[in-house]
Amino acid sequence: MLDESQRQLWLFRPKPLDDELLSSWLVRCAYANLRKLHAFCSQVWGARHHFWERDVDRSADIRLLTTLAECTSTPNSRVYMTTLAAYEGILFECFKRSGELPWVMPIVKRGRNRLGYGMQFCPQCLATDEKPYYRRLWRLSCMVICPVHGCYLHDCCPECGASVTFHQGDYGMKLLPFENVIRKCKKCGLDRGAAPAMTYYGDSETRLAAFQRSIADVLRTSWALEPGAPVTSHIMSIAYFSGLHDLVKALCSKSRTGRLREGCARALGMDLADEAPELAGAFDGFRLKERRVILKLAAWLLESWPERLVTLANEYGVTSSYFISYKKQPAYWYQSAMELYLDASHYHPSEDEIRACRSFLKASGLLVSKNNIQRWLGRYYVDKRRYIKPTASQ
Ligand SMILES: [Zn+2]
Ligand SMILES: [Zn+2]
Repeated sequence: MLDESQRQLWLFRPKPLDDELLSSWLVRCAYANLRKLHAFCSQVWGARHHFWERDVDRSADIRLLTTLAECTSTPNSRVYMTTLAAYEGILFECFKRSGELPWVMPIVKRGRNRLGYGMQFCPQCLATDEKPYYRRLWRLSCMVICPVHGCYLHDCCPECGASVTFHQGDYGMKLLPFENVIRKCKKCGLDRGAAPAMTYYGDSETRLAAFQRSIADVLRTSWALEPGAPVTSHIMSIAYFSGLHDLVKALCSKSRTGRLREGCARALGMDLADEAPELAGAFDGFRLKERRVILKLAAWLLESWPERLVTLANEYGVTSSYFISYKKQPAYWYQSAMELYLDASHYHPSEDEIRACRSFLKASGLLVSKNNIQRWLGRYYVDKRRYIKPTASQ
């Protein structure tokens, strides 16, 4: 437990900035109080704290959050909003501290090092921030373009390829340097704010940029336009993201749905072998290059939902069962498209069709029975020949 002196207000108390990530805020708190990060955390939470050996933005416990709230005089609710847990009910249904979590990229830890590429950054955001900081959005696999500046994010140092470990900016230094090291690459010293901003070009990338802005809006408002529905029809963000995750998962699949990648790419004039040859796997674990391609395909499919998907699925012989995982309840907008257009077993003939079939059977001198009508309409029926008992001579 912290003693009273540790619970006192800190001398400098920066507040979380717009959409700031907990780890970024924690680093800024240390630097604002003129302490190196590790020394600062050890002083406040004791030498045996292990925040930085875990994914602090996912695993933040109540002790860390309440201390931050008390020592910076920040409401608990605002502190909670800096964590990835706050996306529960917006981006995913159920938050968990470890393991796979939809849309949250793994950082792949080794001690305090990060071997994965689960943290991204926009060089223009960092360059223009009055106080540079890292956004929660940058931890999400569905984001590859900055919704503010319209340039591609970076998921590593463009100079040396190292992961973005902004919490290690002061590692190896005896004293906290005068310059702000939150933007500095630990390995090569590059100022991330000075990294090149890659802009997009072409129709598919313009579409992707608009798609990225709409995703940022959905995250901000918790509401989304229902794909394929009239403009006025809105759905909750969690339903939107659930269906979207199923769609990108299908596009990354090694199964038959993966064939759709080729169809989409052909329609978009993209060469997958050139842009990203390894596209089968877990979307949330992909690097930015792969996610960018998959999101381009998804944006194109959603632009005319579900017509484009249905056309391609019919062309490649992919039925609804390949798209829907029965381990979880799919989102309605996604499931209904699959069942209505790609699932023959859900075909329900109209009264007129049944009447016409009955007339046809009668005119042809065939048996007019419910079972036979089912058979002629391509629905489930009982093959009576299977139940003929063998005769004694057989
Ligand atoms: Zn930006
Ligand atoms: Zn570097």
